[in-house]
Amino acid sequence: MDMDFLSVIDAKKDEIIKLADTVWENPETAFKEYKSSAAIISYLKENGFSVEKNIGGLPTAFIASYGSGHPEIGFIAEFDAISDLSQVALIAEPKRDPERQHGHACGHHIYCGNAVAAALAVQAYLKKSGKPGTIKVLGCPGEEGGSGKAYMARTGVFRSLDAAMGGHPESMWAVRTRPSLACCNILYRFDGRPSHAGATPHLGRSALDAVELMNVAVNFLREHMPMDNRVHYAIIDAGGNAPNVVQPHAEVMYMMRAKDNTDLNALCKRVHKCAEGAALATETTFSSEFHAASSNLITIPTLQKNLYKAMASIPLPVPDEEDLAFGQAIADSIVDRKPGLPIYATELLPLPDVISPHFGSTDTGDVSWNCPTVQMHVGCWVPGTPGHSWQIVSQGKCNFARKAMIYAGKAFAIAAVQLFENPELLAQAKKEHLEKTGGIYEPAMPADVMPHL
Ligand SMILES: [Zn+2]
Ligand SMILES: [Zn+2]
Repeated sequence: MDMDFLSVIDAKKDEIIKLADTVWENPETAFKEYKSSAAIISYLKENGFSVEKNIGGLPTAFIASYGSGHPEIGFIAEFDAISDLSQVALIAEPKRDPERQHGHACGHHIYCGNAVAAALAVQAYLKKSGKPGTIKVLGCPGEEGGSGKAYMARTGVFRSLDAAMGGHPESMWAVRTRPSLACCNILYRFDGRPSHAGATPHLGRSALDAVELMNVAVNFLREHMPMDNRVHYAIIDAGGNAPNVVQPHAEVMYMMRAKDNTDLNALCKRVHKCAEGAALATETTFSSEFHAASSNLITIPTLQKNLYKAMASIPLPVPDEEDLAFGQAIADSIVDRKPGLPIYATELLPLPDVISPHFGSTDTGDVSWNCPTVQMHVGCWVPGTPGHSWQIVSQGKCNFARKAMIYAGKAFAIAAVQLFENPELLAQAKKEHLEKTGGIYEPAMPADVMPHL
């Protein structure tokens, strides 16, 4: 294949890195990514993309397009940061950045950077080849706890895509093959009656008792759940800090996960019964509020093989002496780092014969129900780096992460061009998608739930 189209990434490398740096320097949390979203939009507009904003009621969501007709291929761009994880860049010790409250502790500035790089290269391919087709950057806010893509999916924006691809920063080089669980967050609020806990306890009805009973009931439920169900909770209002007052209000945030949206729905009903039982026993009342939900991830083997082939066709980034020195310092800062790990991942992991289960969740699940979707693990970080850590924020501006972002952009562009050149691959991907979804998307998120902006 003539890989001329990649030269645009080399030519615009500094601009792409600058864009990722701008996102890193303006760490904004879910649905408040105004500066990050604006920076990516303005750069894509400068490069001839047309942009539709405010998708699914999310002010920072956007779709940037170039070209017309099919095939239509989209690159997912995430850009939200992690709350309160502020950290100075390029040092190997924890130190809050006095200028920033939040931080890119999941590396989503690399995620949007590789999407933009890939889109520019495919644009160059479309211009040169004169072939019909559309390339899109899917600007997806609020991945961290916001399920942004699920709100976007409601509007049908992912439906017209023949394929979508996204590259999350990680510490290994691989095509993602593992599916993820459907998940949702539901807030339970209990209301009771306050009273003097010593003098008139019989007049009080404790909302905190209700939360505790609900949690006990759920903990007994665990033994009787399917193996791949997960339930987590956080008490976010314990009813005040006075032990001598019967707590009149209390709130607990529940998070449920299951193999697919149907199983998730069944699990949620059982957890709801635990709340009902707790309210009955404590003579309190309760309400529940749905906060966010992501569908399970549908995986498409044809797109995985196609992306693997693209990744294997160009050399992975090689760390130089400076990279290795910084990487070693970061490695030394990681508590209980497994011995024998390399400083950086420099090998592409083969596609596995057996897919191991994965118990996390991602809102990319809602993209994957609407079009064939594939993801790359971009090997940016020092292996052993914990997720959502200060070490990730610090590494976000290091040279190796930048090289990894540029490599990922190129590999994605090659993967997309392979799809433009071989329509039978897209047909096969669509067939696999139809087999797995039955062509019906029933989101994990109820239709009346609005984003928590
Ligand atoms: Zn994350
Ligand atoms: Zn992430």
